[in-house]
Order: sequence, then structure tokens, then C-alpha cells
Amino acid sequence: MEKCLVCGKLSVHLVEDFSFHGHTLRGITVDVCDECGEVFYSLEAAEMVSNIKREERGILFPDEMRGKRRKFGLTQEQIADELMIQRVTYVRWEKGSRVPTTAQNQRLNDLFERYEEQLVRDEFATEYLNILSSSSKAENVYALAAHSSTNFLTDPQKKIRAIIAEQK
Ligand SMILES: [Zn+2]
Repeated sequence: MEKCLVCGKLSVHLVEDFSFHGHTLRGITVDVCDECGEVFYSLEAAEMVSNIKREERGILFPDEMRGKRRKFGLTQEQIADELMIQRVTYVRWEKGSRVPTTAQNQRLNDLFERYEEQLVRDEFATEYLNILSSSSKAENVYALAAHSSTNFLTDPQKKIRAIIAEQK
């Protein structure tokens, strides 16, 4: 037994496979005070607990942020500008040394979604131009596309197949 830094009683002992919010931290040992219930996390345990909280709150993980940012060819500065936060704040999110609030995370997710939609539009535009240049009924294809352009975002390939089928 060790002395508790919170209540001062000699009631701190090691707990193996510590459980947090229903998740068992396998192979992780933490110090727990029997008297006041205080838990003293090691760095490793603290990181696992922080990941569990992140998952529960639906907060993007640093790897996900970095992956999406690179996918859309954005710099850390651009994201910080769009969210009107300091670049260093975003850098910390991506490093994992700071966790965005739920509201900040929502704005970041919205931003990534906008870029995802843009990416789909760009891909569709490329595919559409390919069809246009190879179609003998190019004008009809164009009219159909213009008519239902709002649907292209949901499943562009399916839409293109439908247009081609209608042309046959
Ligand atoms: Zn205590």
C-alpha cells in the first residue's frame, strides 16, 4: 500500500486490466485509492482512457485528421484559416496533444465533408466529360445531366449508367 496524493491515506494499490467505461485496458496497471477512489494513471493508461473518451464523443483521431487533410491536398494553415483558429491549435489536434471540443470537431467534420463533396463533383465532371466526348448523342446527355444535376452528388456513377441506358 502506498500513500494517496489526494486523501493522504495509505490505501493506494495496483489494479491490473483496469476497466474504464466498460472497456478493459488489457495489460495496463493503474494505481487506485481504496479510500477516496482516486485513480492515478500512467502515461500509457491516460492515453488509452483519452482514446476511449474520444471514441465515445465521436471526435476525429489525429490519424484521421491527417489522412483527410492530405486526401484533399490541404495544408494545416488552410484548415486553421477556414475554422478561424490558430494554426498551432490545429497542429496540436493532429499531433494528439490537444483534443478538439465537440463543437470544433463538428466544424472540422463539416469542412471535410464539403471537400469530400467537391472531390466527388470533380470526379464526376471528369467522367462526365469523358462520356460527352464519346457520345454520339452528346446534347441529349447534356440535357439529361442538367435536368438531374442535383442527384449527381449522391451516386454519380449510378447516374451516369442511367443516362447511358436511356440513350440506348
Ligand atoms: Zn485517496
